[in-house]
Amino acid sequence: MTSDPQTEQPTADTPPRRIAIVGAGPSGLFAAQSLVTQTRLPVEVDVFDRLPTPYGLLRYGVAPDHESIRSVAGALAAVFASDRIRFCGLAELGAQVSREELLGAYDAVIYATGANEDLRLGIPGEELLGSTSAREFVAWYGGHPDARAYDLVGVRTAAAIGMGNVAVDVARLLVKNPTDLEWTDMPGSVLEALHASTVRDVYIIGRRGPQHGAFTVKELRELCTLPGVQVSVSEEAFEGIDETSLDRRCRANVETLRAAAARSVPEPRARLHFEFWRRPVEVLGDTRVSGLLLERTRWEDGRVVGTGRFETIPLQLVLRAIGSRSDPLPGVSFDLKRGIVPNVEGRVTTVKGRLMPREYVTGWVKRGPIGVIGSNKSDAAQTVGHLLDDLVATGPQPATVDLWARMAERGFQPSTLADWHRIDAAEAALGADQGRTRMKIAEWDELLRLAQYEPPTP
Ligand code: NAP
Repeated sequence: MTSDPQTEQPTADTPPRRIAIVGAGPSGLFAAQSLVTQTRLPVEVDVFDRLPTPYGLLRYGVAPDHESIRSVAGALAAVFASDRIRFCGLAELGAQVSREELLGAYDAVIYATGANEDLRLGIPGEELLGSTSAREFVAWYGGHPDARAYDLVGVRTAAAIGMGNVAVDVARLLVKNPTDLEWTDMPGSVLEALHASTVRDVYIIGRRGPQHGAFTVKELRELCTLPGVQVSVSEEAFEGIDETSLDRRCRANVETLRAAAARSVPEPRARLHFEFWRRPVEVLGDTRVSGLLLERTRWEDGRVVGTGRFETIPLQLVLRAIGSRSDPLPGVSFDLKRGIVPNVEGRVTTVKGRLMPREYVTGWVKRGPIGVIGSNKSDAAQTVGHLLDDLVATGPQPATVDLWARMAERGFQPSTLADWHRIDAAEAALGADQGRTRMKIAEWDELLRLAQYEPPTP
């Protein structure tokens, strides 16, 4: 007897269904929240993550000076208050746990691993020292333990390629007065590097016009009104724009750029140059970046084409901010062309559309890297709704794998919520020493020490 036939509600003796979620970022945690707040079926949820810290992109991708977005972490932390959710850190799919093991141990698996592979420009010189993805730069200033350090001494001019919010984030962090970042949770080493930075000119390169930017208005306004930063916009950028034909966001973006270009900032500490209708054709340099070769572009038959007019910007740092895609997950169905796990409203399918029972997906790995953090909430609700429909229809799945015994045999134990709380407390204490709410710990050694991690016995 698993449910009351009158009400279809679970009865007290209904055994809980076991759900694994892979990825403890916003999309995974919204899915966990949706699972434990519903009343159709009792559930127990294990949230796996390869890091000992939850919150994914919220912790490592949202800019440190965007406190209001980060406050979502407070709401997500409440998810762990449920005793039906367990955090299983340091457990990576394909390394410490496999898809087969998860399917053998749980009634259903939800993949929520985000979009971690950067798109590439595919132009010569992209591999030179000083040319990286903006995502790596964000990981560095966000204190991700895998990030490598950036040295901004000797970098006078930098460029962000792309007209999205990631380009805005990296440009802002490069031109903003570092004193205005001292309150944030950035690691001390990052703040030191930003104080020592010699960057004075930052270019944002767009292959289309100001009316085509993917920026959100709030983010663009913030960038264009930074104290001490002179904004310029490439000549001819505003020509031929019919503002009446634009939607509200694009019109506001154009107005923001016009106003910023018209504003004169006396003795600026940094300059921000928007270069529209230009596409990068080569990153110049021998081993290190020394310049960026651009071709002017125009719109023809609904696409961007080159004009054959070239120009060079001497610079020392190029950050690609042209979007990202998901990495294939070991053993899991994947659409290489679209860079997502193929799915129908969160139910995983093969590329040809055959349903893969008991496998689900949510967040950027489901729909691609679009939308703000909050978009993942409704997305997770859709996936969880279908998962519950399927579980109700199919009944409990007998476990064929004792995952915890298997992991113990390998000498491995996932890190726990208590381990994260130790890291959390240590970061808060480091911050308090400096009058900040938190200072991130970015070193693997220290994170593992605080998580009391013991390496698997050989
Ligand atoms: P995005 O919004 O998709 O913007 C990518 C930009 O790269 C577009 O301007 C695109 O131009 C350009 N681009 C693509 N391929 C290019 C190429 N080969 N050459 C030159 N330019 C190229 O991506 P994103 O900035 O990575 O942001 C991802 C998502 O995260 C977005 O939904 C964003 O809003 C969100 N996000 C939000 C915040 C925030 O709320 N503060 C912060 C960061 C990220 P075309 O339009 O011409 O293709």
